[in-house]
Amino acid sequence: MTTFRTIRDAIAAALGVATLGATMLAGLAATAAEAERVYVFDCGQSLARDQSRWSPGVNVGVPIQMAANCYLVRHARGLLLWDTGYPDAIAASPDGIAAAGGASVAKRLKTLAGQLAEIGVAPADVTFVAISHTHGDHVGNLALFPASTLVFQQAEYDWAYGGKPTPFPAEQKVMKLAGDHDVFGDGAVTILSTPGHTPGHQSLMVRLPKTGVVLMTGDAVHFRDNWDNARVPAMNVDREQTLASMRRLRDLMAQHNAQLWINHDWLQRQQIPYAPASVQ
Ligand SMILES: [Zn+2]
Repeated sequence: MTTFRTIRDAIAAALGVATLGATMLAGLAATAAEAERVYVFDCGQSLARDQSRWSPGVNVGVPIQMAANCYLVRHARGLLLWDTGYPDAIAASPDGIAAAGGASVAKRLKTLAGQLAEIGVAPADVTFVAISHTHGDHVGNLALFPASTLVFQQAEYDWAYGGKPTPFPAEQKVMKLAGDHDVFGDGAVTILSTPGHTPGHQSLMVRLPKTGVVLMTGDAVHFRDNWDNARVPAMNVDREQTLASMRRLRDLMAQHNAQLWINHDWLQRQQIPYAPASVQ
């Protein structure tokens, strides 16, 4: 016998498809479920010598401060950690360490492990650890979560780890995606394919009960001025894909009246309620 968890599952079954993708769900937005809350963690900060590494030709030689955030999404069916930030070990070096090939100095004022403990979450409680991409300021603590399922785009996994050692145990459960993914099967938390910065870069869309829809950029854009001017960092693997991914995020913002949470934006950092507070 078949039981349907949600109306959407019933519709999917009636249509003869196993799952409905984000595009097909657009017309059903009114029935989409919500996550319970999001905790924002301070997952490091960096001072870069030259902003133009991210904004070619603009503010050449001008330093820029950047945030690094991680986000824990609590849903009735589990916990999703989005990004893991700089390695917790950096917290032992109060003056910071050289990062991004010497382009930045990175610091960690708090560890991810400590911030999870502060809200009563053990690493083993985290169902999914999904990362925007495999750069060091996002995967620094993957090894903290051997019991969780790691979620990558296949393209990102192959690019970063194909035939190479992984920064997590070989026996770890890994989910490799080929595009968007409805994490809990009810439309509340959706991983969005937004390639360009890296081959399998992804962003996250979360529906919350009070805040509405939030889009977490990853590094689809690094800071507000680049967003406003649609600038593409020279380091990105594909310029056209980056611009298309930014257009996609703009379309979703308009469609859902969504907030855009830019992971590395230092000014936005000042307005975010960090854990142990949460956003509902
Ligand atoms: Zn980054």
